[in-house]
Amino acid sequence: MSKRDYYEILGVDRRASEADIKRAYRELAMRHHPDRNPGDAEAESRFKEAAEAYEVLSDARRRRSYDRFGHEGMSGGHGMGSGFASVEDIFGQFGDVFEDFFGFSKDDTKPRKGADVQLSLSIDFEDAIFGATTSLEIERSLECDACEGTGAAPDSAVTTCPSCAGDGQVTIGQGLFKLSQTCTRCEGVGSLVERPCGACDGAGELDASRSVSIRVPAGVGEGTKLRVPSEGLPGRHGGPSGDAMVTLEIRPHEHFTRDGLDLHHDAELSFIQAALGCTLSVPTLDAHAPLRVPPGTQHGDVIALEGLGVRHHKGSRVGKLVVRLISTTPTELDDTQRELLRALAAHSGLDVD
Ligand SMILES: [Zn+2]
Ligand SMILES: [Zn+2]
Repeated sequence: MSKRDYYEILGVDRRASEADIKRAYRELAMRHHPDRNPGDAEAESRFKEAAEAYEVLSDARRRRSYDRFGHEGMSGGHGMGSGFASVEDIFGQFGDVFEDFFGFSKDDTKPRKGADVQLSLSIDFEDAIFGATTSLEIERSLECDACEGTGAAPDSAVTTCPSCAGDGQVTIGQGLFKLSQTCTRCEGVGSLVERPCGACDGAGELDASRSVSIRVPAGVGEGTKLRVPSEGLPGRHGGPSGDAMVTLEIRPHEHFTRDGLDLHHDAELSFIQAALGCTLSVPTLDAHAPLRVPPGTQHGDVIALEGLGVRHHKGSRVGKLVVRLISTTPTELDDTQRELLRALAAHSGLDVD
């Protein structure tokens, strides 16, 4: 598919100035703006196309590359190739272009939902199987009441930072070697506070955490994600809060590992028990169960106990408890044990130390 020329999209000359390009883009963006053309797919694609053209032509370095190599010169550029995924992306990137233009600014008025936050929660092995209600500590920052978020003590003056003239960024070097850096004097804030607020040490916000109750359903696995509504970041302009997306981590169990509905357990027994047979007591999810070990059992043999695994959280299926037998050899023998084993070796015709 051949892509349209960026200059053609914006309807400007190849020698157009930065200001011309910005003006042309604003006009197109206004005309094809999705709020003004609801449900018009053609307008939306024009809107995205214009944003892509503007993204390249508004950046002097990328514009030069485009002038020399055309669309091929763009393939390595970040974010290009597929264009913008959504209209929101475009506002995220170029929102400032729209501000101060006919008072048109999407972000400033519309209520917006807050961002989701990603959290993780460790739960017990049994809680993943049977379900549980547990609590999650959610850390969040709240605006400091004392200074209303400014970070300044009530009667303290706030002045524009003289090092960066309020930009929060300073430019060092010149020409091709220009670099923008966060202003060290104001730490990028752009203003200086004469005396910081005592309540928040000048941060403007206070750490707070609260405990949220979470219902973990039965049958969840490692990595299951639970959505906890309204526990994300606060919304803007009266919009609802985002959600917390909680990824579950399951703590290892002392006795079991889990594979779907089956539980796996390693049971140790002496080589003497393995040779003669015995009954072991093995742990289950709720208690213990007897396990009949036949004579002549080899190290690593596996015995499955039906019905002692995990019950499916909806339905009647129950997994197995799969026991692997680990035969052990004694490392410390008393004299009697040593004599008995020597007698056994002699009787069996085995050569021993
Ligand atoms: Zn500064
Ligand atoms: Zn404060």
